[in-house]
Amino acid sequence: MSNTKTVFVDGSTGEGGGQILRTSLALACITGKSLHIENIRAARRNPGLAKQHLSCVQAACQISNGKCRGATQGSRILDFQPSPVQSGDFYFDIGSAGSATLVSQTVLPALFLADKPSTITVTGGTHNPLAPPFDFICETFLPAIATAGFCGNCKRIKHGFFPAGGGKIIFDIQPWQEQSHQTINLCKPSKQFQIHARIYIAKLPPHIAQRQQKLLLQSELDIQNIEHVEVTDSDGPGNCVMIRLCDSVRTTVFTAFGMRGKPSQEVISEAVNLAEDFMASGAAIDRFLADQLLLYMAIAKAGSYTTNELSTHLLTNMEIIKKFLPVTFQVDKAKDAYKVSCCLD
Ligand code: ATP
Repeated sequence: MSNTKTVFVDGSTGEGGGQILRTSLALACITGKSLHIENIRAARRNPGLAKQHLSCVQAACQISNGKCRGATQGSRILDFQPSPVQSGDFYFDIGSAGSATLVSQTVLPALFLADKPSTITVTGGTHNPLAPPFDFICETFLPAIATAGFCGNCKRIKHGFFPAGGGKIIFDIQPWQEQSHQTINLCKPSKQFQIHARIYIAKLPPHIAQRQQKLLLQSELDIQNIEHVEVTDSDGPGNCVMIRLCDSVRTTVFTAFGMRGKPSQEVISEAVNLAEDFMASGAAIDRFLADQLLLYMAIAKAGSYTTNELSTHLLTNMEIIKKFLPVTFQVDKAKDAYKVSCCLD
C-alpha cells in the first residue's frame, strides 16, 4: 500500500495517545497522502486501536472512500490510503461509550475543505472524561475555529455519559471560506468574565448536585448562576460540573467529572482549579483548546494564540502536523502564558 507520498508516523511520539492517530488520519484525508502508523497509543495502558479509535479509522475511510489495513481492535499498526474527500451525510456509530466528539474531530477538518456542506451524525459518548464534552465543542471549540472561517454547528440529540454511552450528536459543516483570509488570532485575554456553572446529573440522587452547588458557592470564584441539568434521556448514570467563563465574544468551558468513589469536593476543586489557573495566566485560550486549534491554524497556514500551558498533547500535535504540512510553529513565553504562532515553512 505504500507509495512515495506515504507519511510514516510513530504513534509513541511524545504524548503517545489517540490524538496522534486522529491528527494523522485527518491530515491524510486533507493532503491525499497515504499514512503508515506504528506503535499506536504506545504510551497507554491498553495500547493499540480501542473501539473509539477504530471508529475514527472507519470514519476517515468513509469520508475519503479510503482503504486501510490493520483496522482491528488492539492493532498497533495501520496503513491508510485515502481517495479525495467527498461531502455528504455521514453516520458513525462507535457502538460503545467512546467519545463522539473525538471521532467527529477526525473528519471535521477534511469536511470543512470539501466543496459542499456535509452533516455527520455520531452515536457514542457525549460527556466522557479525558475528551471534549459536547458543551466544550459547541461553546468553546466551534466559535474559536469560526474566527478563521470554519463554520459549523453541533446539536445534541441524546446525552451519552461514560460508561454507558448511547448519546447522539449531529454536526452541520459548511465549506471553509478561505478567500476571506481569516486566521485564528486569539492572543488577548478577556478583561471581564462572567462566571457561570452547569451541573449535569443523570440517573443519580439529586443530593449530589445540591452538594456540588453548595461547594461551588463556597469557592473563591464569583459564580453568577448555577444551572442544573437533570438528564432524563441517558442510558446510564452520569455527573459532571462545568465552569463557564463567558465574555462578549468567547466562552471557555472547564469540566470535571464525578465518578463512583470520587468525592464531590474533589470534582469541584478540579473544575475550580482549571478555571483559576487559566484566569491567573493572562492567556486567551485554555490548554485543551490549544491542542485542538493547531490543525486549523496549519490549514489556514497562519495564526496565533496565547495559552496557559504547553501540554504534551500540544507539543506532540505540532510534530505530527509538521510531517504532513509545510508549516512551522513558534512558541514564545509571555509572562505566565505562552504565545503559539503558526506560519508557512
Ligand atoms: P487515549 O485513550 O489514547 O488517551 P484519546 O484518543 O481518548 O486517547 P488523547 O490522545 O489523550 O485521547 O486526546 C484527548 C483530547 O481530548 C485532546 O485533544 C484534549 O485536548 C481533549 N480533552 C481532554 N479533556 C478535555 C476537557 N476537559 N475539555 C476539552 N477537551 C478535552
